[in-house]
Formats: sequence, C-alpha cells, structure tokens
Amino acid sequence: MYSCPRCGLLFEEPDIIHRRENLDGENGWWDYYEARCPGCGEEEIEEYHEEDEDEL
Ligand SMILES: [Zn+2]
Repeated sequence: MYSCPRCGLLFEEPDIIHRRENLDGENGWWDYYEARCPGCGEEEIEEYHEEDEDEL
C-alpha cells in the first residue's frame, strides 16, 4: 500500500513509468523505472503501512 503526500490518494501499486535516457549522446542508454502516483503523477510517494491488529 502506498500513499501520495500531494493528493492523499491511497493505492496498492504505483504507476510504473519506463524511462530511457541517453546520458552521453552515444550508446550509453540508461533504463530506469519511476513509480508515480496514479492520481496526480507525484513521484515522491510513500509506503503506507496499515496498522496491524496482530497481537505479539
Ligand atoms: Zn497523488
């Protein structure tokens, strides 16, 4: 579970954006993935922990 600090949305899985950047203008392609809020596109999403009712 994740929460978005900007719009307050709670969601199970963030939107995963596949990005590809050419860092050196040659063959140095850098593949990476960004997790974003599906509501507003915020990148700084936070993991949200529901309070467990488990008794230890
Ligand atoms: Zn959001």
